Amino acid sequence: MSTLLDNNNHPSTENTTPKIGFLSLGCPKNLVDSERILTELRTEGYDVVPSYDDADLVIVNTCGFIDSAVQESLEAIGEALNENGKVIVTGCLGAREDQIREVHPKVLEITGPHSYEQVLSHVHHYVPKPVHNPFLSLTPAQGVKLTPKHYAYLKISEGCNHRCTFCIIPSMRGDLDSREIGSVLDEAKRLVAAGVRELLVISQDTSAYGVDVKHRTGFWNGSPVKTSMVSLCEQLAKLGVWVRLHYVYPYPHVDDVIPLMAEGKILPYLDIPLQHASPKILKLMKRPGAVERTLERIKRWREICPELTLRSTFIVGFPGETEEDFSLLLDFIREARLDRVGCFKYSPVEGAAANELADPVPEAIQEERYHRFMQLQQQISAERLQEKMGKTIAVIIDEVDEEGAIGRSMADAPEIDGSVYLNGHTSLKVGEIIKATVTHADEYDLWAEAL
Ligand code: SF4
Repeated sequence: MSTLLDNNNHPSTENTTPKIGFLSLGCPKNLVDSERILTELRTEGYDVVPSYDDADLVIVNTCGFIDSAVQESLEAIGEALNENGKVIVTGCLGAREDQIREVHPKVLEITGPHSYEQVLSHVHHYVPKPVHNPFLSLTPAQGVKLTPKHYAYLKISEGCNHRCTFCIIPSMRGDLDSREIGSVLDEAKRLVAAGVRELLVISQDTSAYGVDVKHRTGFWNGSPVKTSMVSLCEQLAKLGVWVRLHYVYPYPHVDDVIPLMAEGKILPYLDIPLQHASPKILKLMKRPGAVERTLERIKRWREICPELTLRSTFIVGFPGETEEDFSLLLDFIREARLDRVGCFKYSPVEGAAANELADPVPEAIQEERYHRFMQLQQQISAERLQEKMGKTIAVIIDEVDEEGAIGRSMADAPEIDGSVYLNGHTSLKVGEIIKATVTHADEYDLWAEAL
C-alpha cells in the first residue's frame, strides 16, 4: 500500500479540523509542488493525516515522465479511491486527463502540474476551509518541508523551451515560465531562516532562468534585481548557506557564475546534463551539439575554479547510435574527466518524437555499452576521488547513528552523488557543517576524520 505523507507536526486538538491525505510521487521537482500545496493547506488550517481512514479527501500528486511512472500513478489513484473514495489528482499525469478518466472515472477533479491554486480551490469545494484561528495555527514560517530539514529544493521555473526528442516534459509542462525573482528569493530567505543550510536550485533548464521574461528587473529587499541565473546566484550567495545548481546548460553566460564559485560564494558544483557527445546523436536528440566548445568551456571553468565538481547525465543506446558514435562518447568522457556521471539506457517514452527514429539499438548492445561506459566512468571517478586523499574538506552532516556520522562534501548533491563517512563521530549534529580530513576513497564515496 502507498504511504501517505505525514507532515502533521502540530497535532490537532479539534475533531472538526478537516483532514487531507497526500500522496506525492515522482521526482524532486514534483516534491517541491507537493510542499507548496501542503504549505498552503496547513496555513489555511487543514490537518495532513497519514491514513486513508482519517482523511476527508486524498490528493494524489502524480508523475508521468516514463511509462512505469504512469502505471505507478494510476495504481496509486486506484488505491486512494478504494481506500477513501474522495480523490483529487494533480501533477504531470494530470495533464492527460482522458487517460486517467478512462481508468478511474470516479476521480473528483484533475489538474495538471503546478496548479496549486486550482488544487486548493477544489479542496475548498469538497472539504470547506476551517475558520482560521491564529492561536492554534502553528504552521512553520518556512512552510512544510518534505525533505530533511537542513536542505531544500528551490524551484525557479517551470517548463522548458527545448524540444529534446526523447523528452515529453515540454508537452506536459509547457514552455519556460520563470518565477518572479523576488518570490524565489523570499522563499529562499524563509527556508534559511527556518534552519535550511543547503539550497538546491532546480528547474528543467536553470541557465535559461528569466529568458521568457526578457530578464526583466524585479525587486527584492527594496533593490532592483535582474531575473537571471547570475543575479539569482549573487543574491542567494548573500544568505550564507550552501547553494547548489542543478540542470545547467553550458551556455556562454554560465561562465559568469564560475567566479562566484571560485570566490566561495556558491558551491563549486555544476550539474550539466550533456546526454551524448556524438554530433550526429546530439542532432537526433535535438540538443545543442558543439562538443568541442563544451570541452573548451570545461577547461576554462577549471582554470578559473580548480575545485569545480562537474556532474552530468548521458543516454546510451539512443536510436541510430553506432559503435563509432559510442566511441566518441567514451573519448569525451576520457577527456572531460567529469567527477560524477549518471547513465541511462535509452527507452522509448509514450508521446516522444524519438520513438519515430530509425535504427533502434538492440537491448543486448545497449546493455553492453552501458557497462563499458560505467566501467570507464568508475575508473575516472575513483581517480578523481583519490586526488582528495589527505585534503581537508567541508562536510554537511546528513545522518548520525551509534556507529558515526554520514555527510556530504561540496562535491556531493543529496540522493544522487556520494557520501562522506565519519566513522566513530557520534556527537555530530545533523545539518552541521564541519571540516574533515580525507583518509580513504573508493569509486564513489570518501571516508574522513572530523577535525
Ligand atoms: S531540456 Fe530537453 S530533456 Fe530537459 S526538460 Fe527540456 S526538453 Fe526535456
